[in-house]
Amino acid sequence: MTNRRDELAANLARVEERIAAACAAAGRARDEVTLIVVTKTYPASDVRILSELGVRHVAENRDQDAAPKAAACADLPLVWHFVGQLQTNKVRSVVGYADVVQSVDRSRLVTALSREAVRAGREIGCLIQVALDAGASGRGERGGVAPGGVEELAGLVAGAEGLRLDGLMTVAPLTGEYAGREQAAFERLMDLSTDLRRVRPTATMVSAGMSADLEQAVAAGATHVRVGSAVLGVRPRLG
Ligand SMILES: *Cc1c(COP(=O)(O)O)cnc(C)c1O
Repeated sequence: MTNRRDELAANLARVEERIAAACAAAGRARDEVTLIVVTKTYPASDVRILSELGVRHVAENRDQDAAPKAAACADLPLVWHFVGQLQTNKVRSVVGYADVVQSVDRSRLVTALSREAVRAGREIGCLIQVALDAGASGRGERGGVAPGGVEELAGLVAGAEGLRLDGLMTVAPLTGEYAGREQAAFERLMDLSTDLRRVRPTATMVSAGMSADLEQAVAAGATHVRVGSAVLGVRPRLG
């Protein structure tokens, strides 16, 4: 049986090669793109190995799994990103370990994050999650605010105590006009980022691309890719 450290090191090397190749193809410097490893459903022991292998950014999507894992890894020099749909009753817990919340998609969440960040004496980076498949409700299947709601929500974050507006995030839609057109979706996110930065010049993060479509995200201009299964293996259950 291969040892887990060797397995993770080999997977990480392959992902690194893919990112480097995508940067080269797009005429971008490798250091313009930050790898975030999505460790959801995998144990704290894997997070520890990844840290030893040089990973600096990790992401989780469920507070129940993330909170104990982050506590077990509190000694490691990691930046923790929260990327899942976030209920307001979980905000206090998430603010305890997350450095960046990438799934900010409604004003009530901004209010709750701000209150808990102030209470904890922390500054939390926030990305507005954009739903490019938002229907008439103005919200996406998997969270996110419609493009037309980005500016208002960004303004709320920028004015909220304890929060820092860092940029935008999206997940490539499975339905709607962008289904199967990942690069077009990510280019749309970049256009929204360009618009946002005219008003909020420090909101420079563009988080897009996962194991299957990181090349398209890098080509479109993403600054952060969120890669799970290509590093850790295919998850045994939906996470
Ligand atoms: C799980 C997840 C990822 C990583 O997906 P993979 O296909 O495993 O790379 C990225 N972003 C979000 C929001 C996720 O929930």
